[in-house]
This record gives sequence, C-alpha cells and structure tokens, in this order.
Amino acid sequence: MAPKDTRVAAYVAVADRLPTLPTVALEIVNLSRREDLDMYDLAVLISRDPAMSARVMRLANSALYKRRHEISTVRDAVLTLGSKAVKLAALSFALTSVADPAEDLVGYDIALFWRRALIQSVVARTLCTELGLTFTEEAATGALLMDLSVPVLVRIGGEDYRDVVRTMKMGHPDWKLEQDILGVSHVDLGRVLMNAWSLPSRLADAVAHHHVPERLEGGGTPDVLALARVLNLAHRAATFFMVQEPALLKEFEDALASWFRRDGTTAAKILGTLDAPIKEFAQIVRVEFDNGSTFAEILEMAREQLLSISMSAAKDLEESEEKVAALTKVVTLDALSGLGNRRALDDVMTREWVARANQEFPDPLGVLIVDIDRFKSVNDTWGHAAGDKIIQSTAQAIRTAVRTSDSVYRWGGEEFVVLAPGASGASLRALGERVRRMVEKTVVDIGGRELRVTVSVGTAAQVTDPVGREPSTLFKAADVALYRAKQSGRNRVEQGPEQ
Ligand code: GH3
Ligand code: MG
Ligand code: MG
Repeated sequence: MAPKDTRVAAYVAVADRLPTLPTVALEIVNLSRREDLDMYDLAVLISRDPAMSARVMRLANSALYKRRHEISTVRDAVLTLGSKAVKLAALSFALTSVADPAEDLVGYDIALFWRRALIQSVVARTLCTELGLTFTEEAATGALLMDLSVPVLVRIGGEDYRDVVRTMKMGHPDWKLEQDILGVSHVDLGRVLMNAWSLPSRLADAVAHHHVPERLEGGGTPDVLALARVLNLAHRAATFFMVQEPALLKEFEDALASWFRRDGTTAAKILGTLDAPIKEFAQIVRVEFDNGSTFAEILEMAREQLLSISMSAAKDLEESEEKVAALTKVVTLDALSGLGNRRALDDVMTREWVARANQEFPDPLGVLIVDIDRFKSVNDTWGHAAGDKIIQSTAQAIRTAVRTSDSVYRWGGEEFVVLAPGASGASLRALGERVRRMVEKTVVDIGGRELRVTVSVGTAAQVTDPVGREPSTLFKAADVALYRAKQSGRNRVEQGPEQ
C-alpha cells in the first residue's frame, strides 16, 4: 500500500465517524451488483422502506426518465428504472443522511454541496444522453457522489478542516490544501468511500480522476477515460452555474469540443434544459434548491457577455490595427508625393539586403537614383508651389514607368530612388530609360502654362552575395553614375558598377 493510502485507511479507521449507508440502501447496492439480479427481489427490498419506495416511484415518474404512463407500484418503478437507476436512487436517498443540511460543519455550507451535486448529476446524465454514451446511470451516480467525500472529510477533520472551509470556492475545496492540513484529500477519501460502499472500481477510478482525467493510469480504458471526462465536464458546468462566470462556460465548451468534438450548439442543448430535471431531482432527494435565476437565464446571460467580450476584443484589435496602420503611414509616407519616404526605403532596403545575405533570394537587386534636372530654376521661375506640383507629377510619372515588383521612394528634395529586385545590366538600363522617357513626356499645367521637366538617372546593382557590404555602397555607386549623367548633359541614364 502506498504511504498515502495507509494514511487514508488510518484516518478512516480511527475516525469511526465514516458514514454507513442505511441498511436498505446498502443491500440494494449489493444486490444490484449481482449478475443474476432479480428485479422482483429488488422491488421487495425497496418496499421494506416506505420512504424509499415513495422516492423510487417519484423518480420513475420524473422528467429524468420521460415515461408516458404514470407508475404506481414499486415493482413497475423498479422495472422502469432498471437496476442501475434504482441503485442511484438508493444512494442518493442515503446521501441525504450522510450530508444532513441541518448539521453544523465548521462553517461548511452543505447547501452549496447539494446544489453542486444536483447540477453535476443532471448535467452528467444529459451529457451521456446527448453524446450517445452508454454509462448514463454510472455517470449520474458518479457526479452525485464525486464530492460526497467533502462533507465526510469535514466531519472527520472537524476543527482542523475549518481553514480549508475558509478558502473553499463554491462548496468545493482545494485538495492540495486538504492534503497539507489533514494529510488526506477528499479525492483520496472518495475512493475509500466508493470501495466501502461497494461501487464498481471503474466508477471509483473515474471519480478519483475527475479533476484531471488525463492522469488516469496508462490513460485508463477508453470507457473509464470518457466517464472521467463526463464527470469533469459536469464539475465544470456546476462551477459555471454557481459562480456565473462567462469564462467558465467557455472552458466547458472548449473541453467538450476537444474531448467529444461537439460545438457550442451541443453545449447549449445540454446546459439550457436543466431547470426542470434539477428541480425535480432536488424534490426527490428532499433538498432545498433555490437557484435565484433559472439555468437558462444564467446561460443566456453568460452567452451575451461572452459575445460582447469577443466583439469588443475584435473591435479593440481592429482599432489598434487601424491606429498602427495609420501611424505607420504617417512615419513612412512622404506627404507631398505620396511615395514612401527615406525611412520606408531604409526598411525595405534592409529587408532585401538581409534576404540576399542569407541567400534566400538569389536574384540581383537594382537601384535607380532619379534627380530632376535644374529644378532650382523651376522654383526660381515659377515659384515654390509650382516646384511642389512638379515633384508630385514626377513622382507619378516614375510610378507609372516602373514594374509592380519595383518600389519608388522620395529620397529627399527632388531626388527619387527606385528599388528594382531582379533588375541588373540591360534590364536595369531599360527600366531607367522608361523612367526618363515617362518624365520627359509628362506635361504639367502651371497656371495655364504647360511645363515639362527632365530627369537624370544613375543606376547600380547588387549581383553577388552582399555579405560584408552595407546598402549604402549600392546607393553610393548609383549616385556616382547619376553625377556622370549630370556631367554628360542631363536627361540621360548612366549605368554604374554592378558589385
Ligand atoms: P541639377 O540638375 O544639377 O540637379 O540641378 P538642380 O537645380 O536640381 O540642383 P539641386 O539638386 O541642387 O537643387 C534642388 C532644389 O530643390 C533645391 C531646393 O530648393 C529644391 N527643393 C528641395 N525640396 C523641395 C520641395 O519640397 N519643394 C520645392 N518646391 N523645392 C524643393
Ligand atoms: Mg538634387
Ligand atoms: Mg536636381
């Protein structure tokens, strides 16, 4: 036996306050374990306890089982319910005495325990029906029992447990804290109780792992794993309804999607139909149940909140994306020409350069520096505003002349740069020529007068691995060529070195 189990057993042994089930309930559990179970024997057994008989009949007539005809005898009820359901009934009735709402339990709110147990059980049942799982009664029983060890542990722990109670969230304790304070958690104790009450070991396994189903040894058999997951979902659903926190609904839906591949529609179907069965179940086990709002209302509220959260998140994102886009535009666009500015050129150039240094792009990188000829005289003769207009029309002309893969920037004053990936040699010269001609034939209307300007173009291309070189070396080479173009009479293209 592992040390932890020894401790649990010792605790249980000395406690002697470990609840026993009422005799009839215990006999029902034992009887229903037998393979040759005779339903008639079971009915006779139940009939010995009038209170239990009444409850079994109410259960058989309840919305949980959706029978068409009224059931009026214990025998019919037993036959209708089947042995597993009768066992569940016996246990749930027995529970009322184990977790008596009237008892003072070091501040532990037994009403919360019951609320949780009822929600869990009905959710587990609905889940199984909706998912087509075959262990409905086991799941409903497990979900009802899975935290029963808490009120039991509260009694065993007594005053020691008060500190755990203080930190409880919605009737559910932190098992790590229980372990620290008492040396045993309600999860460990749950297993002991399940064994003591002769419940099937697979159910005990699933209950023991309902917090983290994935911890089942060796993954567990598919059935036990599925059962533990149903219990986990039931636990989550109960927490959601008790805390009414939309995020918990989201967690429930995510778990349902990842474990059983069902979307929000199934979640809504399961969680949206709990009111009637929970109310009825509460009456059957004789527990007060006042939820304030209906489950459907809580669900609807959470949905609305989730929707508005996701919508405002999307809006925030959209807004911040718009802001970033607007800011990026401001800092990288030249206001006069609408072209990228020097900063934009630096960014793009660095990217192109690094890509080539990393040998991601083997193609050459061509550049053109385009400078308006005798621009000063335009300003001097026609005024600064006319000069601005010329800058704009020249920018447009260059843009029209280049290929879509090229990009154009205003480098400063009346100077422009064209980045031309893939262009070198003859194709780069051709590109420069197209630019020169396009500007030459562009007519600008300045106060009714037709003005034309020309440009000089210097080219350079990076055709080898640029490792060890700076982008400025390429610009410098193109600038030298431009200077030559100016020297040789302007309105011409001069090709610089290809490095
Ligand atoms: P070159 O053929 O040798 O290039 O002669 P240039 O007159 O164009 O000579 P330079 O490049 O020295 O002159 C550029 C002039 O452009 C100087 C400046 O007044 C003018 N300029 C610079 N930015 C602007 C602007 O935004 N608007 C206007 N209207 N003029 C500008
Ligand atoms: Mg200049
Ligand atoms: Mg100039």
